[in-house]
Amino acid sequence: MGIFTRLFGASVPEQARPVVCSGCYEIASGDNAHVIPWWNTSGEDFFTTYRCGKCWLTSLDETEAKVRSLDESARGKFCEFLERHHDSDLRERVQKAALGDARVILGDYLQRIRSGKVRLNP
Ligand SMILES: [Zn+2]
Repeated sequence: MGIFTRLFGASVPEQARPVVCSGCYEIASGDNAHVIPWWNTSGEDFFTTYRCGKCWLTSLDETEAKVRSLDESARGKFCEFLERHHDSDLRERVQKAALGDARVILGDYLQRIRSGKVRLNP
């Protein structure tokens, strides 16, 4: 659980400012704006990525595919992503787990993003 969630409870207010979807370049705001970890193949890193309501699930699928084949290098990158999003507790769990367990933990984390239980701030 991140520091913001701990401080403000489960309903962290969605950022009001609109974002540009990096899938289709349309402007998205409110419930239509999604912030997700996305594996960037050329950058070889999990980037904080903005997607609109039409694009985000496809991109989340790609992130899940990467997590299912997680290797040590990608694990380290996801831990850095979690640290940037102030989720030190989860980062520690992922770091300490066996690689196969880390895939399960991160798969569960992505499911919680998909279901809206976890909402990342830009
Ligand atoms: Zn889009």
